[in-house]
Amino acid sequence: MKNNLTIALSKGRIFKETMPLLEAAGITALDDPETSRKLILDTNHPNVKLVIIRATDVPVYVQYGAADLGVTGKDVLMEHGGEGLYEMLDLKIACCKLMTAGFADRPLPEGQLKVATKFVNCTRNYFAEQGRQIEIIKLYGSMELAPIVGLADIIVDVVDTGNTLKANGLIPLEHMADISSRIVVNSASMKTKHEKLQTLLDQLKKAVEAK
Ligand code: AMP
Repeated sequence: MKNNLTIALSKGRIFKETMPLLEAAGITALDDPETSRKLILDTNHPNVKLVIIRATDVPVYVQYGAADLGVTGKDVLMEHGGEGLYEMLDLKIACCKLMTAGFADRPLPEGQLKVATKFVNCTRNYFAEQGRQIEIIKLYGSMELAPIVGLADIIVDVVDTGNTLKANGLIPLEHMADISSRIVVNSASMKTKHEKLQTLLDQLKKAVEAK
């Protein structure tokens, strides 16, 4: 319905840091996803719902219009490719860097590099732009382990403090991209619900700038 707005969010850090911004725009959640098992949360507006999903699923919900807008990391958006959605606003939360990492004292092989990562598309694009030959080893987590056990030469992962790398004897090597959470909007909703969405985006932008 033209009057309804569905916002896709993941629980945890993104929910905690996005809610104050939505509250500044007049939207408050009536449940806490940390204590409720509900996947659809009501808000103080009968026409505005929050769907609580994994950050990696947010672009998919928004692309297909199951949510009008959503919040997710730039890393997730780069991996998804951005089809069917517009990236409208940098919320400047959950900031980190996408980096390559490896051992400080281990020279990299001359030929093909083995790179372990869950960021397969970002990694392929980054190394292709540089004309460097790589073999990608797709993992779903604990990437830091791969160079230690000889599964890969380097990893590509998001780095915040660098403590996880350090605890595993690795160092950050190349800075690939700055990451933060972004608002994405379904491209059809941007036309059919333009006024409602634009008002919300303007209020969110003000809230980000005021922080
Ligand atoms: P750190 O030890 O602070 O460098 O954090 C490293 C780990 O925390 C990474 O391997 C990620 O899994 C996770 N992490 C830190 N910041 C973020 C973020 N903004 N978005 C997603 N994951 C993050």
